[in-house]
Amino acid sequence: MIRYTQPMPESRGITKIGFLNPNGQINIRPLGLPGTDHGQSLYQLACTHCGHNYAANGSDIHLRKCPACQNGSPSTSGWTPIQA
Ligand SMILES: [Zn+2]
Repeated sequence: MIRYTQPMPESRGITKIGFLNPNGQINIRPLGLPGTDHGQSLYQLACTHCGHNYAANGSDIHLRKCPACQNGSPSTSGWTPIQA
C-alpha cells in the first residue's frame, strides 16, 4: 500500500473560521474581497472584548488588535460591517 504524505497546510489555521488570536480577535468569515497585501484576501474579524467588527488581511489575523479598544490599525480597506 502506498501512503501519501499530506503537504503542509498553507496556513497554520489562522484563516479558519473561529480562529481566536492572542489578542482576543476572532475570525468571523472570509469577505471575498482582495486584501491590501499581495495575494491576500480580507477576513471579517470581531473583537471578543468589545464586539467591534472590522476587516484584516489573512496574513494579519494572528497579530491583529482591535481598532476600537486595543489601539489597533483601522479596518483594512476601510471596510465596515453592513447593518442589515
Ligand atoms: Zn475591541
